[in-house]
Amino acid sequence: EAKRRGKGTSVSFSDEMGARTAADAEITRDLATAVDAGEFTLVYQPIVSLDDLRMTGVEALIRWNHPTRGLVSPAEFIPLAERSGHIVAIGAWALREACRQVARWRADFPGAYDLTVGVNVAGRQLRSPGFVDEVAAVLRDTGLPPNQLSIEVTETAVLDDEESSAALLGLRALGLRLALDDFGTAASSLGLLLTVPVTTLKLDRSFVESITTVGRQAAVANAVSQMATALDFSSVAEGIETEEQRELIRSLGYEYGQGYLFGRPLPPSQVVARLEALDGVVV
Ligand code: C2E
Ligand code: MG
Ligand code: MG
Ligand code: MG
Repeated sequence: EAKRRGKGTSVSFSDEMGARTAADAEITRDLATAVDAGEFTLVYQPIVSLDDLRMTGVEALIRWNHPTRGLVSPAEFIPLAERSGHIVAIGAWALREACRQVARWRADFPGAYDLTVGVNVAGRQLRSPGFVDEVAAVLRDTGLPPNQLSIEVTETAVLDDEESSAALLGLRALGLRLALDDFGTAASSLGLLLTVPVTTLKLDRSFVESITTVGRQAAVANAVSQMATALDFSSVAEGIETEEQRELIRSLGYEYGQGYLFGRPLPPSQVVARLEALDGVVV
C-alpha cells in the first residue's frame, strides 16, 4: 500500500515515532514487541588476523525473523528502531546476548579464551541514560572480560555532545574496546580521532570493494592504515571477498580482516565448528 502511494506523496501516515510510510509504521509497531516475542537472533561473523588467518574475534550481527514478513534486514529495521527509540531495548538485548554467548564459548573452547566480540551500538542507544551502567552490568553478569568486548559505533553515531562523550569515556574506563565502524564514510572523521577515545578503526567495505594497487581506494586505505598505526589503534578492513583484496589490504598494513572470504555471518552452531578448530591459548 505504501509503495502504491509512494514515499513522496502528501498523504500523511502515522508520523508517530518517526515512521514515514505505512510499511515503516507497521514495522515500527512490530519492533515494540519483537524482543519479548523472541524474534531476534544473532549471527556471528569471523574477524581474522591477516598474518595467520586465525579467527581472533567475531562481530555479532542481529537478524529479525518477523512473523509474517520473514527475515527483515538490519539495514531496513535498525534505522526505524533508531527513530522510534526501540533501539534502546533491542540493542540492550543484543549486547547481553552477544556477551553471554561469547563468555560461554570462552568457557567451553580453549581456542575461544581470548576471542573478542564486536557489538554494534546505535547513537541513540549510546546516549540513552544508564547505557554505561548497563554495559558494566552485562560484563559482571556474564563474566566476559571487558577487553574482549568491542563496542562498534559509526562516525555519525558519535555526536559532538556531552552525552556521547561521557558515554564513550565511561565505556573506555570499563576497559573495553571502542571501534569506529564504517570508517571513512562520514564527513567528520579526522577531528573525531582527536576527541573520541577509540582503540580500533574499521575501514568501510566501500574502500575494499574495488581496491586495486593503482586505485584511489588503495590510497585511502593506505592513509587510514598509516593513521591507525601512528595513533596506536588496531585496524580492521571490512568486506574482504577475494584473495586479491586480502593480499593488498595486508600489504597496506591492516592487522585484521572481515569479509565473506573468511566467513559469512554464522549461526552459533557453525561458529562452534570454527572454535573447535582453533588452538587454545596456553595459560
Ligand atoms: P556493519 O556493522 O558495518 O556490519 C557489517 C555488515 O557487512 C554486515 O551486514 C555484514 O553481513 C556485511 N558484510 C560482511 N562481510 C561482507 C562482505 O565480504 N561483502 C559484503 N557485501 N558484505 C559483507 P548486516 O549483517 O546486514 O548488517 C548491516 C548493518 O546493520 C551493520 O553494518 C550494522 O551497522 C547494523 N547492525 C547489525 N546488527 C546490529 C545491532 O545489533 N545493533 C545495531 N545498532 N546495528 C546493527
Ligand atoms: Mg559493525
Ligand atoms: Mg562495519
Ligand atoms: Mg559497514
